[in-house]
Amino acid sequence: MSVSHLAKSIAESPTLALNERARILRERGEAVVHLGIGEPKNKAPVTAILSAASRLATGDIKYSPSDGIPSLKKAIIRYTEENYGKMVEPENVIVSSGAKQSVFNILYTILNPQDEVILLAPYWVSYPEMVKMVYGVPVVVTPEDGGFRPRMVEIERAVSSYTKAVIVNSPNNPSGVMYSEEFIAAIVEYCERKGIYLILDDIYHKLVFNGKRPTSAYKHTTKDIEDSKIIVVNGISKLYGMTGFRIGWTIAPRELVQIMNNVQAQTTSCASTILQAAAEGALLGQQGLVESLRLTIENNRNLMMQELRAFTGIKCVPPDGTFYCLPDFRAYSNDSVALSKSLLDKALVVTVPGKEFGMEGHLRLSYAGTVKDVTEGIARIRWALDPNAPNEIYIGDKKLIRDWQ
Ligand code: PMP
Repeated sequence: MSVSHLAKSIAESPTLALNERARILRERGEAVVHLGIGEPKNKAPVTAILSAASRLATGDIKYSPSDGIPSLKKAIIRYTEENYGKMVEPENVIVSSGAKQSVFNILYTILNPQDEVILLAPYWVSYPEMVKMVYGVPVVVTPEDGGFRPRMVEIERAVSSYTKAVIVNSPNNPSGVMYSEEFIAAIVEYCERKGIYLILDDIYHKLVFNGKRPTSAYKHTTKDIEDSKIIVVNGISKLYGMTGFRIGWTIAPRELVQIMNNVQAQTTSCASTILQAAAEGALLGQQGLVESLRLTIENNRNLMMQELRAFTGIKCVPPDGTFYCLPDFRAYSNDSVALSKSLLDKALVVTVPGKEFGMEGHLRLSYAGTVKDVTEGIARIRWALDPNAPNEIYIGDKKLIRDWQ
């Protein structure tokens, strides 16, 4: 088959591939526990459903302006004011079909071939592939101290005359760590001074624990948004557990938004008007469910940490937010792809190899599922690996006895 070298070089999305594998196993009746998933179990907010339903009921479902329905943009402006302390204009906002598309459109808009984008390991799997898709070069900065928090000197060392942008995702998928306010202040100052775009993927910004508060990069600049290098990405996927609605947005200087708008107009025209109506319903509705979702996830996080503490040889940096943690499994294997595969084969637990996030020897575990998913998932992984774990386990109605002791 004849396909482009570029398209051929783009890796399969490992998380979506794992979801598919788990779905097939479940369909076969296998008792799979999914610790790979990046979405919570909650139902969409009623206000989102009603808003989408009433739009649908009009039967008048047409294109919207490419950059989004004005009333949704207004709700996003309000969200930005309330959560970032920043007043922006409609010309600074563009709605896309998910934050994933927002990130892609930003990269498409700002990069020339060979321009470099700095990614902080562990990084979200899609960043390097997206950078490559627009002929850019991902430059990965891995914290030398073996932790998950990059230091400014390490970033500064990686900057070259080709550096066009840095992507910061805090709290971070896959590690769950939140970067300090001092770090955000320092990187804002650095990028503004050097004229490098700072893309803040804030998709998990309200999903933070231990009383932490979301950070706003805008607090750390004195520049007007039109002169600033700050680009903020957000969306409804994680905020309301509305992953299937596919609505995200970008806040950026208007000149950039204008060009992103041309890019979007020539590719997807606009995000679905029904789903934009749903996003508006969620943003304007009762926000209590964001907090109750956050509390559920925080409880799951606590449980996951407790279960992991009983695990011989596993080290885990406690997550400050998100649905994920990234324990170090090097006591058992340095090959996270092989380890993840063997856990699925042996114990029917889905995990995501750390290699995909630039952290070999680790596995990303999600606690977005139920309490049972967390306890049973970790019990199965312990059974498969930990010599101090009980020798027998039930997987579905099958009793399994470990044969390697
Ligand atoms: N950024 C990060 C860091 C994510 O984890 C995800 C979803 N997994 C996205 C962006 C994409 O979100 P959306 O569903 O809005 O495309």
